[in-house]
Amino acid sequence: MRRFFKITFLVLLALLAAFVLWCFIPPNAQPTAAADFLWKTGMTEAEVDSTARRLLAQMSLEEKIEQLHGDGNWLTLSKFGLRWKMLGLGRHVVYSGYNARLGIPPLAASDGPRGLGIGTATCFPVTMARGATWDAALERRVASAMGIEARASGVNYHLGCCINLLRHPAWGRAQETYGEDPHLLGAMGAAWVQGVQQHNVMACVKHFALNSLENNRLNVNVLADERTLHEVYLPHFKKCVDAGAASVMSAYNQVNGDYCGHSRPLLNDVLRNDWGFRGFVSSDWVMGIHAAAPAANAGMDVEMPFGMHYGQLAAAVRSGQVSQTTLDEMVLRVLRTKLWYLTRPDPQAYAPDLVASAEHRALAREVAEQSMVLLKNEGNLLPLDLSKLKKIAVIGPLATAENTGDRGSSEVKSPTIVTLLNGLRAAIGTQAEIVYEPGINSTKAAEAAAGADAVVLIAGYRHNDEGENLSLRRRPTDTPKWGTGGDRVFLRLREDDEVRIRAVAGANPRTAVVLLGGSAIVMDAWQAEVPSILMAWYPGMEGGTALANVLLGKVNPSGKLPFTIAHSEADYPQFNPMADTITYGPYHGYTLLDKKGHSAAFAFGFGLSYSTFRCDAPVLQRSVLGPADTLHLTVNVTNTGSRAGAEVVQLYIGFDPNGSVERPKKLLRGFEKIELQPGETRSVAFALPVRELAWYDPKTKSWKVESGAYTALTGSSSREEDLQGVGFSLTPAPSPKGRVE
Ligand code: BGC
Repeated sequence: MRRFFKITFLVLLALLAAFVLWCFIPPNAQPTAAADFLWKTGMTEAEVDSTARRLLAQMSLEEKIEQLHGDGNWLTLSKFGLRWKMLGLGRHVVYSGYNARLGIPPLAASDGPRGLGIGTATCFPVTMARGATWDAALERRVASAMGIEARASGVNYHLGCCINLLRHPAWGRAQETYGEDPHLLGAMGAAWVQGVQQHNVMACVKHFALNSLENNRLNVNVLADERTLHEVYLPHFKKCVDAGAASVMSAYNQVNGDYCGHSRPLLNDVLRNDWGFRGFVSSDWVMGIHAAAPAANAGMDVEMPFGMHYGQLAAAVRSGQVSQTTLDEMVLRVLRTKLWYLTRPDPQAYAPDLVASAEHRALAREVAEQSMVLLKNEGNLLPLDLSKLKKIAVIGPLATAENTGDRGSSEVKSPTIVTLLNGLRAAIGTQAEIVYEPGINSTKAAEAAAGADAVVLIAGYRHNDEGENLSLRRRPTDTPKWGTGGDRVFLRLREDDEVRIRAVAGANPRTAVVLLGGSAIVMDAWQAEVPSILMAWYPGMEGGTALANVLLGKVNPSGKLPFTIAHSEADYPQFNPMADTITYGPYHGYTLLDKKGHSAAFAFGFGLSYSTFRCDAPVLQRSVLGPADTLHLTVNVTNTGSRAGAEVVQLYIGFDPNGSVERPKKLLRGFEKIELQPGETRSVAFALPVRELAWYDPKTKSWKVESGAYTALTGSSSREEDLQGVGFSLTPAPSPKGRVE
């Protein structure tokens, strides 16, 4: 008997060892370049279409279905997970639709929003940090670098564009998106799409739609009326589609009673019919759809990462639940998109050593520098002046942490990470003494602070405080606890951080608090006690160097908040991470505060500089316009300080409170970041098509520009005191055809 157990044990052990070894073996790379298949480079649209149809005509039913789901099965998925999570080897490319017989390359997919999710790659600051740069041209450069790293790694399908709207700062994946405002989201998302696609990598824009809650993301039914959908939650997706996005990923959640992966209103009606999207839709990964026929009939093309349900599409077609025409259209959409992108001439070669190259790391540093938001700087404590400081205390356990953000699908493994402490040490060298104290014990923290000339106190979150929900075990009754990941439990800092801040600031008034996190942190409990606060986000692999450059004044901060920081949690919309049903209304962030007449602790668009700027009143070219016109205005901006710096000039449109439909008090409709030398004045020009002022009429299912009085507001943030306005009016269209109401 004992012998039997022994043998069984040894056999099981051998099997386990074989499995672990198998996990180490990366999947066979599949050929992903068009050249491998002798496709003609630079095919025209007509050639792409005819080639796709010719290929389709040669396919068996099974071959067609192979185009519509990721390769593999539960076993390959568990290998994927094991390599990534347990062996720390990083994820691997997920392929779908390779057909050697017909010479069709696969989609070769990888995440994600802060860099490539396979192997090691450049880890950029999280998307929210990049939203805070308010610099679409810079985001395009970041996306271009991601596109280069994708191609250098054999990836042709990049899942990196998360543009869900930040409705509430507790959303676990807040860090993966660009902010709370549809205009900002649309501009940054479109820049990302163009940046990545210039390398012939298909961009995936996700998660379509209304995915702004994490813990119950697989089930929650989000209710929204038509105006809220079209005016608040969808416009940024449309901007990415207009920018030419190859693909859209559906969200896990339900919208108005349909799972997004089964939502005909979202996929076929809005995306394809209204917006003219010509790429393909893929599902969110595992459980993104729940049955083959309803998903296929609603417009879902590709199930990822394998055919959990689309494995049964053949049966659905044979039984007539899915028509042959529907199936062929799905396959054609995938084939056309692949053929188009994979036959574009490449702008450059993609050698493997381009991944995490010195140039990309420098870009990661530059973005981190541009993203940091100076929220408060009383008495100009910052920048730290090394000619006057002998001893600097750096306090907080996060100073030594490799804290680049969430460890869900957006995780990037970078070859190196400059921690905040190491960045400061390298920059300060021997110019001043640095004393590091983690400050777990606040008395020790206060002692270290008291003996220093200035203090840098690092506070905030890490991956287990906010991030993607990878647990299926959450229950509605779970008591919120810090450190469990998913949606954030509180909007304030952890208690130990707040205690530390008080102790340190009490011991040394020259304390600068550096905050780490992916969205708003409510800080009314302590912010009056410290002179300086800098929001540094999860600043990526070069974060420590970037932080040192900002704190020491080598770089003048110019980031602006991409969301509202309220005085209290009560100023945000209702949020329940385990909700089964939740209603998203038209107001959140600054539009909600405007409606309530409440001020923000730190307003949307707000951020200080080591310099000062003056924005003059906007000057209109014409103040009476028709619905087909463009509003042209200019603003003069002057650097009134003594340092070179950058200002983000923002344009909001104020709506007539007596209009025929309720509108927010104002909405962002333009922004421009400009660099100015001390004393320099520059003129910023905005050109806003009047159709951007339209509201969505659910009765006629169309956009309407209302004639009447409007205000163009420009300035340095969404705060009333930072904006100056000029009135203009819209007149009805001259002909009855283009009538405005
Ligand atoms: C996430 C997606 C991600 C996908 C693949 C899903 O769980 O929601 O954002 O792209 O996994 O990793």
